[in-house]
Amino acid sequence: MRLCVFCGSQLGRDDVYASAARELGRGLAERGIELVYGGAAVGTMGQLADAALAAGGTVIGVIPEAIFSQEVPHQGLTRQIVVADMHQRKARMAELADGFIALPGGAGTLEETFEVWTWAQIGLHGKPVALLDVAGYYQPLRVFLDNMVTERFLRQRHRDMLFIENDLDALLARFAAYTPPSVKPIVR
Ligand code: AMP
Repeated sequence: MRLCVFCGSQLGRDDVYASAARELGRGLAERGIELVYGGAAVGTMGQLADAALAAGGTVIGVIPEAIFSQEVPHQGLTRQIVVADMHQRKARMAELADGFIALPGGAGTLEETFEVWTWAQIGLHGKPVALLDVAGYYQPLRVFLDNMVTERFLRQRHRDMLFIENDLDALLARFAAYTPPSVKPIVR
Protein backbone atom coordinates (compact mmCIF):
# COMPACT_ATOMS: atom_id res chain seq x y z
CA MET A 1 0.00 0.00 0.00
CA ARG A 2 1.35 3.39 -0.98
CA LEU A 3 -0.39 6.71 -0.39
CA CYS A 4 0.32 10.12 -1.85
CA VAL A 5 0.10 13.09 0.50
CA PHE A 6 -0.34 16.63 -0.78
CA CYS A 7 0.58 19.35 1.71
CA GLY A 8 2.06 22.79 2.11
CA SER A 9 5.38 24.29 1.20
CA GLN A 10 4.67 26.56 4.21
CA LEU A 11 4.34 25.60 7.87
CA GLY A 12 1.10 27.47 8.49
CA ARG A 13 0.30 29.93 11.27
CA ASP A 14 -0.06 27.44 14.10
CA ASP A 15 2.13 24.49 15.05
CA VAL A 16 -1.01 22.32 14.95
CA TYR A 17 -0.45 21.92 11.17
CA ALA A 18 3.20 20.85 11.40
CA SER A 19 2.37 18.51 14.21
CA ALA A 20 -0.49 16.95 12.20
CA ALA A 21 1.93 16.46 9.30
CA ARG A 22 4.39 14.69 11.62
CA GLU A 23 1.61 12.57 13.08
CA LEU A 24 0.50 11.53 9.60
CA GLY A 25 4.07 10.68 8.52
CA ARG A 26 4.58 8.57 11.61
CA GLY A 27 1.09 7.04 11.33
CA LEU A 28 1.66 5.87 7.76
CA ALA A 29 5.11 4.46 8.55
CA GLU A 30 3.81 2.58 11.60
CA ARG A 31 1.10 0.98 9.46
CA GLY A 32 3.67 -0.09 6.84
CA ILE A 33 2.17 2.31 4.28
CA GLU A 34 4.69 3.84 1.87
CA LEU A 35 4.55 7.60 1.38
CA VAL A 36 4.72 9.48 -1.93
CA TYR A 37 4.92 13.28 -1.67
CA GLY A 38 6.35 16.38 -3.34
CA GLY A 39 9.97 15.68 -2.35
CA ALA A 40 10.71 19.00 -0.65
CA ALA A 41 12.41 19.55 2.71
CA VAL A 42 10.40 22.70 3.45
CA GLY A 43 6.99 23.39 5.02
CA THR A 44 4.66 20.69 6.22
CA MET A 45 6.09 18.52 3.41
CA GLY A 46 9.44 18.38 5.22
CA GLN A 47 7.77 17.65 8.57
CA LEU A 48 5.75 14.81 7.04
CA ALA A 49 8.74 13.18 5.35
CA ASP A 50 11.08 13.55 8.36
CA ALA A 51 8.54 11.94 10.68
CA ALA A 52 7.85 9.05 8.28
CA LEU A 53 11.59 8.38 7.86
CA ALA A 54 12.23 8.63 11.61
CA ALA A 55 9.55 5.96 12.14
CA GLY A 56 11.30 3.66 9.63
CA GLY A 57 8.95 4.33 6.72
CA THR A 58 9.59 4.30 2.99
CA VAL A 59 9.36 7.78 1.47
CA ILE A 60 9.38 8.55 -2.24
CA GLY A 61 9.66 12.18 -3.36
CA VAL A 62 8.65 13.47 -6.80
CA ILE A 63 10.11 16.91 -7.43
CA PRO A 64 10.44 19.02 -10.59
CA GLU A 65 13.94 20.24 -11.40
CA ALA A 66 12.52 23.68 -12.16
CA ILE A 67 11.56 24.41 -8.54
CA PHE A 68 14.82 23.46 -6.82
CA SER A 69 15.43 27.14 -6.08
CA GLN A 70 12.09 27.59 -4.25
CA GLU A 71 11.60 24.19 -2.68
CA VAL A 72 14.75 22.63 -1.33
CA PRO A 73 14.77 18.92 -2.26
CA HIS A 74 14.90 16.55 0.71
CA GLN A 75 18.28 14.79 0.79
CA GLY A 76 17.42 11.80 2.97
CA LEU A 77 14.53 10.11 1.18
CA THR A 78 14.32 6.43 0.31
CA ARG A 79 14.01 7.57 -3.31
CA GLN A 80 13.85 11.02 -4.90
CA ILE A 81 12.41 11.10 -8.42
CA VAL A 82 13.36 14.25 -10.33
CA VAL A 83 10.93 15.16 -13.12
CA ALA A 84 10.90 17.97 -15.66
CA ASP A 85 7.80 19.91 -14.65
CA MET A 86 4.66 20.13 -12.51
CA HIS A 87 2.58 18.10 -14.97
CA GLN A 88 5.00 15.18 -14.83
CA ARG A 89 5.11 15.49 -11.06
CA LYS A 90 1.35 15.05 -10.71
CA ALA A 91 1.21 12.24 -13.26
CA ARG A 92 4.05 10.37 -11.54
CA MET A 93 2.62 10.80 -8.06
CA ALA A 94 -0.77 9.58 -9.28
CA GLU A 95 0.79 6.55 -10.97
CA LEU A 96 2.78 5.54 -7.88
CA ALA A 97 0.00 5.88 -5.30
CA ASP A 98 -3.03 3.77 -4.38
CA GLY A 99 -4.85 6.77 -2.91
CA PHE A 100 -4.44 10.47 -2.09
CA ILE A 101 -4.59 12.47 1.14
CA ALA A 102 -4.47 16.26 1.37
CA LEU A 103 -3.35 17.89 4.60
CA PRO A 104 -3.94 21.61 5.00
CA GLY A 105 -1.96 23.54 2.41
CA GLY A 106 -2.11 26.38 -0.07
CA ALA A 107 -3.12 26.77 -3.70
CA GLY A 108 -0.64 24.08 -4.81
CA THR A 109 -2.13 21.54 -2.39
CA LEU A 110 -5.67 22.32 -3.54
CA GLU A 111 -4.69 22.25 -7.20
CA GLU A 112 -3.11 18.81 -6.88
CA THR A 113 -6.03 17.44 -4.85
CA PHE A 114 -8.69 18.82 -7.16
CA GLU A 115 -6.88 17.51 -10.19
CA VAL A 116 -6.74 13.90 -8.91
CA TRP A 117 -10.37 14.20 -7.78
CA THR A 118 -11.45 15.37 -11.25
CA TRP A 119 -9.42 12.54 -12.80
CA ALA A 120 -11.41 10.13 -10.60
CA GLN A 121 -14.71 11.77 -11.63
CA ILE A 122 -14.04 11.07 -15.29
CA GLY A 123 -12.68 7.59 -14.62
CA LEU A 124 -9.01 8.15 -15.40
CA HIS A 125 -8.25 6.28 -12.17
CA GLY A 126 -10.28 4.51 -9.50
CA LYS A 127 -8.28 5.58 -6.45
CA PRO A 128 -9.76 7.30 -3.37
CA VAL A 129 -9.10 10.95 -2.49
CA ALA A 130 -9.48 12.54 0.95
CA LEU A 131 -8.92 15.78 2.77
CA LEU A 132 -7.45 15.14 6.22
CA ASP A 133 -8.87 18.05 8.15
CA VAL A 134 -6.82 19.67 10.91
CA ALA A 135 -8.26 22.27 13.31
CA GLY A 136 -11.25 22.84 11.03
CA TYR A 137 -9.07 24.18 8.20
CA TYR A 138 -11.20 22.49 5.51
CA GLN A 139 -14.63 23.31 6.99
CA PRO A 140 -15.18 26.40 4.78
CA LEU A 141 -14.29 24.26 1.77
CA ARG A 142 -16.79 21.59 2.89
CA VAL A 143 -19.48 24.29 2.93
CA PHE A 144 -18.43 25.44 -0.54
CA LEU A 145 -18.42 21.88 -1.93
CA ASP A 146 -21.97 21.40 -0.66
CA ASN A 147 -22.93 24.71 -2.25
CA MET A 148 -21.56 23.45 -5.58
CA VAL A 149 -24.01 20.53 -5.29
CA THR A 150 -26.92 22.78 -4.24
CA GLU A 151 -26.28 25.04 -7.22
CA ARG A 152 -26.03 21.98 -9.51
CA PHE A 153 -22.50 22.49 -10.75
CA LEU A 154 -21.38 19.30 -9.03
CA ARG A 155 -23.15 15.94 -8.90
CA GLN A 156 -23.74 14.51 -5.44
CA ARG A 157 -22.02 11.25 -6.40
CA HIS A 158 -18.92 13.22 -7.43
CA ARG A 159 -19.05 15.28 -4.23
CA ASP A 160 -19.21 12.01 -2.27
CA MET A 161 -15.96 10.83 -3.87
CA LEU A 162 -13.97 13.50 -2.00
CA PHE A 163 -13.82 12.35 1.63
CA ILE A 164 -13.24 14.75 4.49
CA GLU A 165 -12.03 13.14 7.72
CA ASN A 166 -10.11 14.34 10.74
CA ASP A 167 -8.82 10.98 11.89
CA LEU A 168 -6.37 8.77 10.01
CA ASP A 169 -7.97 5.46 11.01
CA ALA A 170 -11.41 6.67 9.87
CA LEU A 171 -9.90 7.88 6.61
CA LEU A 172 -8.07 4.58 5.98
CA ALA A 173 -11.25 2.61 6.72
CA ARG A 174 -13.06 4.63 4.03
CA PHE A 175 -10.18 4.02 1.62
CA ALA A 176 -10.34 0.26 2.29
CA ALA A 177 -14.10 0.22 1.60
CA TYR A 178 -13.88 2.46 -1.46
CA THR A 179 -15.39 1.30 -4.72
CA PRO A 180 -15.09 3.87 -7.49
CA PRO A 181 -18.42 4.77 -9.08
CA SER A 182 -18.79 3.37 -12.54
CA VAL A 183 -17.97 5.91 -15.21
CA LYS A 184 -18.31 5.56 -18.95
CA PRO A 185 -14.77 5.10 -20.22
CA ILE A 186 -13.33 8.01 -22.16
CA VAL A 187 -12.55 7.12 -25.77
CA ARG A 188 -9.27 8.74 -26.71
P1 AMP B 1 1.31 24.97 -1.56
O1 AMP B 1 0.14 24.21 -1.05
O2 AMP B 1 0.93 26.12 -2.47
O3 AMP B 1 2.29 25.36 -0.49
O4 AMP B 1 2.09 23.97 -2.53
C1 AMP B 1 2.26 22.64 -2.17
C2 AMP B 1 3.02 21.92 -3.23
O5 AMP B 1 2.27 21.92 -4.44
C3 AMP B 1 4.37 22.55 -3.59
O6 AMP B 1 5.30 21.49 -3.67
C4 AMP B 1 4.13 23.14 -4.95
O7 AMP B 1 5.29 23.14 -5.73
C5 AMP B 1 3.14 22.17 -5.53
N1 AMP B 1 2.42 22.69 -6.67
C6 AMP B 1 1.93 23.91 -6.89
N2 AMP B 1 1.30 23.99 -8.08
C7 AMP B 1 1.41 22.76 -8.64
C8 AMP B 1 0.98 22.17 -9.87
N3 AMP B 1 0.29 22.88 -10.76
N4 AMP B 1 1.28 20.87 -10.10
C9 AMP B 1 1.98 20.14 -9.21
N5 AMP B 1 2.42 20.63 -8.04
C10 AMP B 1 2.14 21.92 -7.75
